[in-house]
Amino acid sequence: MNIAIIGAGATGLAAAHELLKAGHTVTIFEAGDTPGGLAGGFKAPGWDWSLEKFYHHWFASDADLLRLADEIGARDRVIYNRPTTVVYYAGRFYPLDGALSTVLGGGPWVDRLPLSGSIARGLLALRYPGFNLIDVMRYGLAGAYLVLASNWRRLEQITAHDWLSRRMGRRVYGLLFEPLLRGKFAEYAEQVNMAWMWARIKARTPMLGTYVGGFQAFFDDLAAHVQQRGATLLYGAQVESILVETAADAPCLTVHFHQSPIPNRQSSIVNPQSSIPDRQSFDRALVTTSPRLMAKLAPQLPADYLGALNRLKSLGAVVLIAALDRQLSRAGYYWHNLPKSAGFPFLALCEHTNFVPARHFGGQHLVYCGDYLPPDHPYFSLSDAALRAIFLPALRRINPEFEEAWVQQTWVFKAPYAQPVPFVNHSRAIPPVKTPLPGLFFASMSQVYPWDRGTNFAVRLGRAVAAEMAGLPAPPASSRG
Ligand SMILES: Cc1cc2nc3c(=O)[nH]c(=O)nc-3n(C[C@H](O)[C@H](O)[C@H](O)COP(=O)(O)OP(=O)(O)OC[C@H]3O[C@@H](n4cnc5c(N)ncnc54)[C@H](O)[C@@H]3O)c2cc1C
Repeated sequence: MNIAIIGAGATGLAAAHELLKAGHTVTIFEAGDTPGGLAGGFKAPGWDWSLEKFYHHWFASDADLLRLADEIGARDRVIYNRPTTVVYYAGRFYPLDGALSTVLGGGPWVDRLPLSGSIARGLLALRYPGFNLIDVMRYGLAGAYLVLASNWRRLEQITAHDWLSRRMGRRVYGLLFEPLLRGKFAEYAEQVNMAWMWARIKARTPMLGTYVGGFQAFFDDLAAHVQQRGATLLYGAQVESILVETAADAPCLTVHFHQSPIPNRQSSIVNPQSSIPDRQSFDRALVTTSPRLMAKLAPQLPADYLGALNRLKSLGAVVLIAALDRQLSRAGYYWHNLPKSAGFPFLALCEHTNFVPARHFGGQHLVYCGDYLPPDHPYFSLSDAALRAIFLPALRRINPEFEEAWVQQTWVFKAPYAQPVPFVNHSRAIPPVKTPLPGLFFASMSQVYPWDRGTNFAVRLGRAVAAEMAGLPAPPASSRG
């Protein structure tokens, strides 16, 4: 079959990889000038590695991603490390998640013990001044239950707010989970279902991974691999619509697109423009954009499917990256969860160079200040300078000696579709990947539920939708859950 894929992010490239393995002809339309979508990166002068536009890491449990890396011969370039994640309490930061071997001492074998993650969390919770002994016990028991539980469909019937405040108690909920839910889901915080939190806890590991050269290097390698296998990858190709006709029982999908010239893109991954018309016809098409955009691209979709796409809620992301001339967190912490109730102007501060060494970035220390917000939030229309003026003073709360003179450069990235919002009984609200239009498929972050959005689950979804498009058996689920 001749198949079109809209989007060269993790979902589109993973689907392309599977379809090529099954012998199909694949053309990928990518509006941007690089592969990787939301997980892509950029490289400033003097850096050896690229930096993700939005903070990214992998977990040790990301088996779908690791399998894909294996298949393209890049498994040895996925590297893991154990950076420290901290939460805020009364003006200070405390680790609440870590490897048991770090908390107790001892070799890596300690981390392979059953429930080692829960035990480590319990021990760290004992040292956290916000909890009393009863809080620690409730936190530990409910946390262990969530790690062992597999019936997420029961958990999606209740909100995380209700489940956590009842099982773990108001204090644990108020100190740990409420800030996370409020920061991530804004006005929807109390409506998010418990299956989302279950999946988040279940899939996370203290070991975090990246790719030699950064995530962009991974997506460049993956894109190069699918091209070597015969895929046509069109960069700067903005798809405007997909129209479906059915002739003699075989669907014909026409992709209408507009291609712009791409400066500085390696010619090996750009097709010569002159030979590309502004429409091409296919037997099947897969769209991997946001649900809103999908609804616009395929106006022939029936009203109930369009309605389901338009009812899916999501938040956008705003990230400011600061390159500093020195380390910010004196303790070397990587990820800081910040409660907005304590006056922080964003949700997470992530010092990337406490995860990936600063030597890969010309010695610069890179700090992300990130937030999830409704797409109409004022941060989306503020200038970079205005955002800098709001965000940078908060760095003094991480290190009181911080001065703006430490900042050598800043970058701002914004994405209107960044975090799907899963309400109670969300599984019933997700449109199927096979649309009612013959030959047209849709796979997005909103469909990896109950898992939280992530490149591992995008790869899993890409694989599953490829199998469905090609009429192959569903691939085995290779990661937890
Ligand atoms: C702030 C933030 C932090 C994250 N952190 C992590 C993390 O730590 N670990 C992790 O694994 N995941 C993380 N994720 C999630 C991860 O980025 C996504 O799950 C993944 O990138 C989704 O891939 P995708 O292919 O489904 O979508 P996308 O990456 O959005 O790809 C869609 C592609 O379609 C293209 N496109 C859009 N419209 C058109 C059009 N009209 N024509 C042609 N092309 C078009 C886009 O340019 C894009 O390349 C994070 C996401 C965000 C926003």
